Amino acid sequence: MADFVPYGTQWIDDDDIAAVVDVLRHGNLTQGPKIAEFENALAKYVGARYCLAFSNATGALHCAVNALGIPAGKNGVTSPNTFVASANCLPYNNLIPRFADIDPRTFNVTAESLQLAMDANTAVFIPVHFAGQACDMDGIGALARERGIPIIEDAAHAIGSTYPNGHKVGCCEHSAMTVFSFHPVKTMTTGEGGAITTNDPVLYQELQLLRSHGITKDSQLLSANPGPWYYEQQELGFNYRITDMQAALGLSQLSKIEKFKARRKEIIATYNQAFQGLAGIVTPFEAPGLDSCFHLYVLQIDFTKMGKSRAQAMKTLADVGVGSQVLYIPVYTQPWYRKTFGYARGLCPYAESYYEQALSIPLYPKMTNEDVQRVIAAVRGLFQ
Ligand SMILES: *Cc1c(COP(=O)(O)O)cnc(C)c1O
Repeated sequence: MADFVPYGTQWIDDDDIAAVVDVLRHGNLTQGPKIAEFENALAKYVGARYCLAFSNATGALHCAVNALGIPAGKNGVTSPNTFVASANCLPYNNLIPRFADIDPRTFNVTAESLQLAMDANTAVFIPVHFAGQACDMDGIGALARERGIPIIEDAAHAIGSTYPNGHKVGCCEHSAMTVFSFHPVKTMTTGEGGAITTNDPVLYQELQLLRSHGITKDSQLLSANPGPWYYEQQELGFNYRITDMQAALGLSQLSKIEKFKARRKEIIATYNQAFQGLAGIVTPFEAPGLDSCFHLYVLQIDFTKMGKSRAQAMKTLADVGVGSQVLYIPVYTQPWYRKTFGYARGLCPYAESYYEQALSIPLYPKMTNEDVQRVIAAVRGLFQ
């Protein structure tokens, strides 16, 4: 049988490997020059003033919320249709997570749903650009400005995507900060890794402290300067630094992002056409004006009509070498969220019905045309 086609994976070439090996042979393994090079390249690519790379997006989200200095006991509103890290950053900072329902076509939160989910104690919005499609940031930005609430965009899926005005996700025109992930299943990778972009010099300085123990050696920031050994811990920070090896990989991967995007779009167009007219299946919707670099290809499937349970369908696909995944279980239905915050089923009906019908099939730029045809045949086979 041909190789197993997973739902997502990285694309590493010889030049990526050479970039990492070069650091291993000649460089500083951590805190070398590749980190700033990567940060500058990423800031330039998305059109933001500042960028800081992190050890992963989870740590980046932790610091992004922390940097806003929100008093304990307030709350933040995010999407239920996301990886748990988008919400966990709130309780990390002693804030209560709230959840806004998703739009039934884009599967993203909206200004309307955020408004319904917020209350007088809401101190941050964390919209998630699900599958790589940007949320309606014009609408969400307008609501946030009116209520004086900062926004952190979770763009873990959305590097390479644009808003309707053509500006890139990460430019922060409506947000305080945008967070990216470079985990291997995401659109580009550094192994583990993440980044925050911002246009705010104060947040940038604060994030630098938080990323590395709250420690600074910057003579401009020190309260005294008795000698070259001297540093100060000025805040309670963390160790979320990325390594120079990872930054070298990130630089190399970033230079290929448009190629990755073009191939993802080709595969999506082929899938969309192949699944047209299959009763019981809904292919992904992209809102007008967007140019999305989709990270996931999510089908909505009526499993009753198909006559198989989702678990059976996934097994049938796996038996012919086709991986699939279910993204996402509504976060508030996780045992820890139910136990800690008393959430129960029924909170976000659209997120719950989306979840019941969701199946992500393989989407990654290294897929061959044969892989794509094999996935198509396997999915169509489910309906026979
Ligand atoms: C992957 C992911 C994260 C966390 O990223 P890590 O780099 O693995 O910590 C956060 N939010 C979303 C939406 C993700 O998909």
